[in-house]
Amino acid sequence: MSGMRQREHHWDRIRTTEEWDVVIIGGGASGLGIAVHAASSGLKTALFERDDFAKGTSSKSTKLIHGGVRYLQQGNIKLVKESLRERGLLMQNAPHLVQNMKFVLPTFKPWRTWYYALGLKVYDRLAGRLGLGRSESLSKEETVALLPGIKTDEIAGGASYHDGQFDDAYLALSLAKTAVHHGAALLNYCEVTSFISVNKRIQGVEVHSPLDAEKRNVRARFVINATGPFSDSMMALDNPKHKPVIKPSQGTHVVVDSSFFPGNTAMLIPKTDDGRILFAVPWHGKIILGTTDTPVDAASAEPVPFDSEIDFILTHLQRYLRHAPQRTDVLSAFSGIRPLVKLTNKKTAELARDHVIRVSRSGLISILGGKWTTYRKMAADVMRKIQSLSSEKIALSDTRMLRLVDCNTPPLSPSIENMNDAELKERIRLEVEQSACLTVEDFLARRTRQLLLDARHAIKRAPFIAACLAEQLIRDETWKTEQIESFNALAQLYLPQD
Ligand SMILES: Cc1cc2nc3c(=O)[nH]c(=O)nc-3n(C[C@H](O)[C@H](O)[C@H](O)COP(=O)(O)OP(=O)(O)OC[C@H]3O[C@@H](n4cnc5c(N)ncnc54)[C@H](O)[C@@H]3O)c2cc1C
Repeated sequence: MSGMRQREHHWDRIRTTEEWDVVIIGGGASGLGIAVHAASSGLKTALFERDDFAKGTSSKSTKLIHGGVRYLQQGNIKLVKESLRERGLLMQNAPHLVQNMKFVLPTFKPWRTWYYALGLKVYDRLAGRLGLGRSESLSKEETVALLPGIKTDEIAGGASYHDGQFDDAYLALSLAKTAVHHGAALLNYCEVTSFISVNKRIQGVEVHSPLDAEKRNVRARFVINATGPFSDSMMALDNPKHKPVIKPSQGTHVVVDSSFFPGNTAMLIPKTDDGRILFAVPWHGKIILGTTDTPVDAASAEPVPFDSEIDFILTHLQRYLRHAPQRTDVLSAFSGIRPLVKLTNKKTAELARDHVIRVSRSGLISILGGKWTTYRKMAADVMRKIQSLSSEKIALSDTRMLRLVDCNTPPLSPSIENMNDAELKERIRLEVEQSACLTVEDFLARRTRQLLLDARHAIKRAPFIAACLAEQLIRDETWKTEQIESFNALAQLYLPQD
């Protein structure tokens, strides 16, 4: 993973390798997790992402590595237990990207405090020795001390617990680097356009990279569909009679200045008007508020927050915060699409967050659903499926103990707000060299998180970034102008209209 020279190296390997053991379609949490597991098991592994790594849902999450208090409420103990175990493992294997965060649920009635405190004790118990700290019931004074921005008049008390918080795009890039370290070939901006089939069995994929003006057939023993919300389109490409199994649901977040919600503790609003939960979480010096659950007809690569979603989030926060943010205070609003698996006729909030593996008649292996927290377990299950289908013996690595390659390096700044031109230029050089940064959007949305932290500031710096990138990538003026224009158009979608 890397600059253009290394991109060429990955292409050379794609061109010269006669057959891969595993080809993965999709470079989000699911696909990258599988790439790490397959490559560290010694399998010849290639991954193709049609856009940038983590451009999809995997950079638009709430940024929690969590057991899921809500799943506990729903009685999905198996999922909570599995997620809490994965949370503990990830804190060991990616300590540079996942941190322990304290959450407080404020309550308006004393009996609610005890109700939540009791439930959270179950959460502690399920985490066992991988727990991050004990939950506690809190007096009104303790609640207000932990949440200094909260309205005090009606608060009865609260309950606190611990969960993990992370940077989703950074973790995705760290997984990509780890997969490459173990020998995988990875290409962003390279789409899988069709399958190669012989006697109705999938034997590879056709890939197309407009960026490199290259189309190629890539042969593989196993082809994995890890395209998240787009899984149905891949399954339909394999089998035109395929009936959709993904029920896409949009989730929106709003980012505001930390002055609206000071302190280092996150807040969980246990019940919204539509019966969900809502978070206010400190993240990279700002506050993330969200999320929503809005069923949509189809997945899109760049979902746009609905006005109603932004209003919904702000209205709920207004009930809890003394100085509540208004629409004009929103620094950025972003949406992701949940790849929920449609197993029943339930509401999207109740559909399976568990993952499901489907193998088609022609041999396409699809990993459906899941969440960031369980990406490692999802990958392990896919690899076990491959092991069971393989005619040759495969010895799988144990990724429970596999540290990510850069786990001893502190992550680089997610914000560019305090960088001068020289620092910014150096950072761009680094990202081009080391993490396959190819566009202004890559840099501002995922190599740093400026677009999500403050879209206006991102727009302001886009021309300088385009100029530095053009120099690094040897691009002309037209490219530079196009990059600025397309980034500005994108960033407008992150700013709510008045
Ligand atoms: C609002 C929201 C909040 C969430 N919060 C959390 C959270 O706090 N914690 C948590 O654990 N989970 C959370 N999740 C769930 C988690 O983010 C997702 O389950 C996970 O990111 C899905 O990853 P994925 O790789 O399956 O899909 P994606 O990240 O969408 O990746 C699929 C990729 O496939 C690519 N692709 C599609 N077609 C092709 C093709 N033909 N060729 C090549 N590539 C292709 C796409 O470009 C995309 O990058 C949240 C989800 C949402 C929507």
